[in-house]
Amino acid sequence: MMKNIIEKINKLAEEIGRNINLMEVCGTHTQVISRYGIREILPKNIKLITGPGCPVCVTAQRDIDAIVNLALAGVPMATYGDALRVPGFFGSLNEAREKGAQVFDVYSVTEAVELQKKIPDLVFFGLGFETTTPMTAWGIQQGLTVYSAHKVFLPAMAALLQDKNINIDGFIDPGHVSVVIGTAPYDKLKIPQVITGFEMEDVLTGILLLLKQIKNKDTRVLNQYSRVVKESGNEKIQKIISDVFEIGDGEWRGFGVIPKSGLKIRKKYASFDAKVKYKNILDKVDFSHSKDPAGCRCGEVIRGLMESKKCPLFGKVCTPDNPVGPCMVSVEGACNVAYRYSK
Ligand code: SF4
Repeated sequence: MMKNIIEKINKLAEEIGRNINLMEVCGTHTQVISRYGIREILPKNIKLITGPGCPVCVTAQRDIDAIVNLALAGVPMATYGDALRVPGFFGSLNEAREKGAQVFDVYSVTEAVELQKKIPDLVFFGLGFETTTPMTAWGIQQGLTVYSAHKVFLPAMAALLQDKNINIDGFIDPGHVSVVIGTAPYDKLKIPQVITGFEMEDVLTGILLLLKQIKNKDTRVLNQYSRVVKESGNEKIQKIISDVFEIGDGEWRGFGVIPKSGLKIRKKYASFDAKVKYKNILDKVDFSHSKDPAGCRCGEVIRGLMESKKCPLFGKVCTPDNPVGPCMVSVEGACNVAYRYSK
């Protein structure tokens, strides 16, 4: 079966006869592609580019600096493990903990809600796309105070299509995000797209379906993951998100501010919004240093402009044990994945 798909991919690539750039925008797809060496078995003119699918990586340096400053000012902070290790100008949350700040590593929002019962001032640092947002929204409904760096994904894809420095012929759409938002929102991008699952065969089939569209000059959203993803997504979850969050501008690492890509906590939940509650602390933070660490090229890696291995620090100064930038911190980060599977 797999051999058959690869043969078809080879045939189509030859028929298309030009270089094709396909971008995957989901950290789990990035891992699957590297784990199975899918890049290496594709024809030379078909290139898979990694996009902004890693939630920790795209979180703006400004947000990292904000939460580290909150922790250093005595606000107890909780978040997922990867986010604790992202280095900011004022250090990481882990380093703040070494300096005596109360910083907690949680596996879920449920755990943060439980923790807040013992530590009433606890703030949960919520980040990620439509996949992690619903649980954060639920937490806020339970009375959890949150610093939100949550984002909606589609505007970033649209921004990539407008970027003249990169030429994308098709997207492998983010599978988990699609479970929540459905297939319909992608239509407006007007480019070949496919939603696939996370097995090797799923990804290869997705590539085949994209190449068929490119050859036929078609621009559809094909759903190869229909066992999980529905056209209208999960409406129940969408309602929970929109009860708690409203769309605002969002700041992304590598992109800067993308209009209508951020999720702000609605006014009715303002008493659980750390940006409101601790405005006095945040207003005093000097964010003029909130930039990528010196020498780190994460911004370009996230936008697919540079392969991780071409970063001069990759594997020498920057490794998963000693990450310089967030793309090497998270297991979904392009640099971390490239490092782990390069051997
Ligand atoms: S290898 Fe390290 S320094 Fe280079 S872009 Fe990736 S995370 Fe940044």
